[in-house]
Amino acid sequence: MAFNKLLSFQLEYAPQYHLTKYVSARTGLQLVHIDHKSSPLVQGYFAVGTECPNDSGVPHTLEHLIFMGSKEHPYKGLLDTVGNLCMSSTNAWTATDQTVYTLTSAGWKGFSKLLPSYLNHILFPTLTDEACTTEVYHVDPEDFSDKGVVFSEMEAIESQSWFVTMLEKQRLMFPEGSGYRSETGGLTNNLRTLTNDEIKKFHKEMYSSDNLCLIICGNVPQSELLDIMENWDSTLPEKDNSTKKRPFLDTPESQIPSSRNEIIESTVEFPELDESQSEILFSWIGEPYLSYTTDLAVSMLLDYFTESALAPFTKQLVEISDPLANSTDYWTDDYMRTIINLGIHGVPTEKMEQTKAKVMEILATHEIDMARIKQVVDNGKWEYILRCEKNGDSVLSQAVITDFLYGDLHGSSLEASVKSLSDFNELSKWTSEQWSSLIKKIFIDNKPIIVLGKPSSELYESIDKEKEKLLRERKEQYGEHGLSKLRETLDQAQTHNNTPIPESLLEAFILENPEKTVDFISTVSITVCDDTKHKNEADPLTRSILNSKPENFPLFLHLGHFPSQFIELHCLLNSTCIKDTTLLPYYHVFTELFSMPMKGENNEIVIPYEEVVSKLKSETVDSQISLGLNATCPELIDLRIRCKSDDYSKAVNWIKHCLFDMIFDEKRVSVLVENYLNSIVELKREGDVMLESLTCRNIYSTRSMKKSVDPLYVESILEDVLNDIEDGKFQEKVLPRLETMRIQLREHFNKFHILIFGDVSKIQSEVYKPWESLIANLDAAPQSYKVKTPPVPRLLSSVSPLCKKPSERAYIITAPASESSYMNVITPVPFNLNYNDPEYAAVLLASEYLQCVEGPFWKGIRGSGLAYGANMVKMTEINSWGFNIYRGTDIVKCYQAGKQIVEGYATGVAQFQPNLMQGAVNSIINRLATIENGYFAASISKYVDDFLLARGPNFNKMILERLADVSIKELQHVMQKYFVNLFDSDKSVVFICCHPSKVEAVQEFLEEQGFTVDIEELEDEEQDEDEDDEGNSD
Ligand SMILES: [Zn+2]
Repeated sequence: MAFNKLLSFQLEYAPQYHLTKYVSARTGLQLVHIDHKSSPLVQGYFAVGTECPNDSGVPHTLEHLIFMGSKEHPYKGLLDTVGNLCMSSTNAWTATDQTVYTLTSAGWKGFSKLLPSYLNHILFPTLTDEACTTEVYHVDPEDFSDKGVVFSEMEAIESQSWFVTMLEKQRLMFPEGSGYRSETGGLTNNLRTLTNDEIKKFHKEMYSSDNLCLIICGNVPQSELLDIMENWDSTLPEKDNSTKKRPFLDTPESQIPSSRNEIIESTVEFPELDESQSEILFSWIGEPYLSYTTDLAVSMLLDYFTESALAPFTKQLVEISDPLANSTDYWTDDYMRTIINLGIHGVPTEKMEQTKAKVMEILATHEIDMARIKQVVDNGKWEYILRCEKNGDSVLSQAVITDFLYGDLHGSSLEASVKSLSDFNELSKWTSEQWSSLIKKIFIDNKPIIVLGKPSSELYESIDKEKEKLLRERKEQYGEHGLSKLRETLDQAQTHNNTPIPESLLEAFILENPEKTVDFISTVSITVCDDTKHKNEADPLTRSILNSKPENFPLFLHLGHFPSQFIELHCLLNSTCIKDTTLLPYYHVFTELFSMPMKGENNEIVIPYEEVVSKLKSETVDSQISLGLNATCPELIDLRIRCKSDDYSKAVNWIKHCLFDMIFDEKRVSVLVENYLNSIVELKREGDVMLESLTCRNIYSTRSMKKSVDPLYVESILEDVLNDIEDGKFQEKVLPRLETMRIQLREHFNKFHILIFGDVSKIQSEVYKPWESLIANLDAAPQSYKVKTPPVPRLLSSVSPLCKKPSERAYIITAPASESSYMNVITPVPFNLNYNDPEYAAVLLASEYLQCVEGPFWKGIRGSGLAYGANMVKMTEINSWGFNIYRGTDIVKCYQAGKQIVEGYATGVAQFQPNLMQGAVNSIINRLATIENGYFAASISKYVDDFLLARGPNFNKMILERLADVSIKELQHVMQKYFVNLFDSDKSVVFICCHPSKVEAVQEFLEEQGFTVDIEELEDEEQDEDEDDEGNSD
């Protein structure tokens, strides 16, 4: 037996998880199995400790090159193609101290088939020069611009504020030579000169069996897992344990001192035309990895300082008139010592010094509120348990990876770090002296690094000019001869990389009846309603719930039952009840209802908002108001509350509080609206968010929440609200509108969808009772009232004329802060909400075929470095389908490539490949399994299928059967009938978000294609003077 079992235990607080750790005596390979049955997915995390002392980007580039072929299977994209056949998807990330490869499969069968080949890619990659050329960096022979997948990825983020401030922090915090100092993603300047030899050398140093930890989570037969792993392990060379050096821990330069005795401060700039908002980052050195309790205490303190309306930073920096910041957050880097980061966002640039001083002052003078810190610890504990229930694979594997890097080699630290929640229990007993001395030790005596991140329009312009200069110089430098050489190298690399994978090899990975190898999890659904057909009277719990319904109970309830320690409650309100659509933007105030003052018992006293928030925190785990149930049906406003099962009654009360008792308080409304408005500056820096905004504002009518709550749409409306409040017109103008909105939302109780998910058996005796106080406030139901399924407002009824009949229109929004471009192209595909339409499966499959990993878009758009993502977007709810480009480098070429590919399949020039078709079907199965990852998700998804989309509880099963029958002819037909229209200006509409420097070329291109182009510029008033410059520049 090659693997020794180091330890094996069950988690005390989440007994569905059993964790076992093994190590191979011969090779040092570590294997952790996190066993559970609460998901159809099997997930693998394969972690390598990676330490790199410079900004070359070797760890990240290597991560990409691993996917370009192994010695055993030297084909680019094999993992992806085979991944599809095995209903699996692969991914990876590179952090400062680790590179982690992931494998997610629908079921163990597919996972186990792919596993050995994947692991061979990691330890025995080909690392060819050709792969390096296309994947890492090359000069584009067309226009001399910088290209390469990694290069584009880094270029897109390198000038963003968070990146710039984080990098500066690392450089100030850690000395030269420390692995913690480097930007492991690679700075673009370094990527230009990085050689394949450096990458190979790094692989040799870091990627070995004794620096690799495999974590495999899910419903996996242990003996099969061990058989496969032992087989693989036996193919690896033996490792000498005695000379083993661990990254970081055994590197003298990477040691972290226990504290800092001097504040270091630095100002860095990031390119941005809008100079109004800055960022501040504070970082402290924290405790060593093994000091779990203190580490947790520090996290709890930061929770205390940053989270919720009661947090000192929120109360003293954010939710004040003339705010000093827009939001605050914290995160830790879990290195050999924890690095504690505190981010202060949306700081008015002229108030940076003031804000910085205020943060330090708060930390130095704040007296801990013992009741609140106890609350924070208790909430922290339950939030953690809930996260484990919902997403245990990722929570636990991250803990395992940190332990692999910094824990002891025998496993005792792993057990101590995850087995129990004794740390939380210990902290709940801490005295105020203990908390105060911790604040003093970590945040006051120990000095921070402070990085001030300032937006600079000058830098913004100089970057543009430098880029132009670089291109000009390159043009001269290369000349005609250099150009053809570039072209030759690139062509050669592409030909080499695109060596087709032999069919015979692929066949070895084909699963028989793939849909049958997935164990979808099942939950019980109980609907309390007089007109529903789906009642399983044979189920004793269902019978008991239905029989205990009080007479004339007027509400529609739907319960989803499965094992859990929590209850998740949703009350979905129908936004179409709000008659006047100009009220809809007030949704942004409505979402803050949980942090307003509240009427107490008898309506006499007013409970201040601080007490409300505190009470809410003590009675629930979390609460939120958002649109749609898991984003489906966004015309529904979702009041969601999660609580411990024991607190079900209290949670229900909060629904009533929201609908009746919360007070729209003038001061709170004004502060919260101002805060929301300030947050829009940051949204404008995100190209994908701006594309979404541009699209929604044009394809929906004001009836739709998609348009009426859009940040750019509401900006001036909410500014007017603020002005009204300033003019003393809150009572007269603002409040009546807010109240009207709430009254209309609660008026029709027959339109509420009330959903209760969790272990229903635990609340079975009290399901109905807590609703009485809400019911008492509603209009009385008529005698012998029949509860019916509430109506569902569908998006289709609130689309714009443009969406119904797009023709010859294109819209561009310019985002100065976004280097990359983003695009949606939309055309009608009318199923009229009938998911059983005979063509639906074919359209779904054709769309998946185009976008799937190693499919035509992947190869033709992503593979050639034109964009990070190219996808089809299902917009069935609005009779449309879309083509989306995410983070494009050349949006015109993306459009052209998409057009050429789709037309190729429509005309028959390109042939559909049966293996890729199967892969596309399997990736749909994989996606369905991913959606139903965990009991809560599976149970919610059932409600979505059955009630919101009205396509039946067994929709998944039915669609999988149909997909298996779709023929090549049908796929071609879909391309001809629908998808070619995407690229026909008569039948489509185009939305693009791009950098202002690209707008002219893009506009010209779209006009050539027959579009009338409408341009929206994002800069605000401050930029007026610059417009002249732009006009002259060309
Ligand atoms: Zn990457």
